Amino acid sequence: EGRRLALLANAPTRTRDGLDIRLLANAESPADVALARSRGADGVGLYRTEFLFLRHKDLPTEDEQFIAYRDLVLGMGGLPVTIRTLDLGADKADAAGLVMQGEENPALGVRGVRLSLRYPAVFSTQIRAILRAACYGPVRVLVPMVTQPDELIAVRTLFKLARQELKRENIDLPEKLPLGAMIEVPAAAINVRALIEHADFLAIGTNDLAQYVLAADRGNDALDNIYTPLQPALLRLLSHVISAGRRAKKPVSLCGEIGGDVNFTALLLALGLNEFSMHPSQILQVRDRLATLHRADLRRHAPALLRAHTHEEVAATLNAILGNTV
Ligand code: PEP
Ligand code: MG
Repeated sequence: EGRRLALLANAPTRTRDGLDIRLLANAESPADVALARSRGADGVGLYRTEFLFLRHKDLPTEDEQFIAYRDLVLGMGGLPVTIRTLDLGADKADAAGLVMQGEENPALGVRGVRLSLRYPAVFSTQIRAILRAACYGPVRVLVPMVTQPDELIAVRTLFKLARQELKRENIDLPEKLPLGAMIEVPAAAINVRALIEHADFLAIGTNDLAQYVLAADRGNDALDNIYTPLQPALLRLLSHVISAGRRAKKPVSLCGEIGGDVNFTALLLALGLNEFSMHPSQILQVRDRLATLHRADLRRHAPALLRAHTHEEVAATLNAILGNTV
């Protein structure tokens, strides 16, 4: 089985009915990048930069960040790389001392882009490092925990200012740098049409989106019967966001844990997803599963999946679909 899967490292990712799917890697270390290359990833769909901040006691300097991002870009050999801006707060520890102290509900507090925008000087250091690294290959920037358009607008303004600064310093700049929003706050998913006007692409973060939609801590095992990706409310949001992306002709990927779990591959295909981002160790399994699935058949079953009232009903519907027709 291992050897059969290994042969898929250089194979295209295609459904049984011939649709090409993009498989991207979630990465946070050079080892992840090497693994992503060896498994034939189409790029990096989520580079979690907070890990750079957690390794240091002090904030990483612009040059330290630049070198990490540049090496990531070079390591992917010309494939697209999606760098997520700092996502500290909530369950993510804080070595750098940036996170607000004494918040009663840190998961609902100043985290992700909310925190970055409170510290424009720190944020601009990251932004300058990303702009410099983007001269070495195709880079996209992804903003975490977006709730409303003004956050994306503020980030764009900081990028513009950093460009002007770097230009004055005669430092090379990339021509374009697509800016995308993570969809992981329910309001962002429900009102996605407002965000998509200001975003070049979207990446759905189902780990947090499920947590916030279900009011169930993503790390609390006692809530397993609630915190499941099969929840109808979550599926309707995924479908809504994926359709909005298609209508606006903007790419939508999904980078939560379920993207790399073959138990959910058919479901996500049924909802219309065609870009998956996952830990690179999952890529071969997902590629293998996709080759067995008939995308057009699954798409026809999307309404039935979305009509289910409970997560048990979704599971039963999915099993019936997979058992009967695919
Ligand atoms: C998510 O929330 O689904 C996600 C991909 O981001 P993280 O797990 O880093 O919060
Ligand atoms: Mg998240």
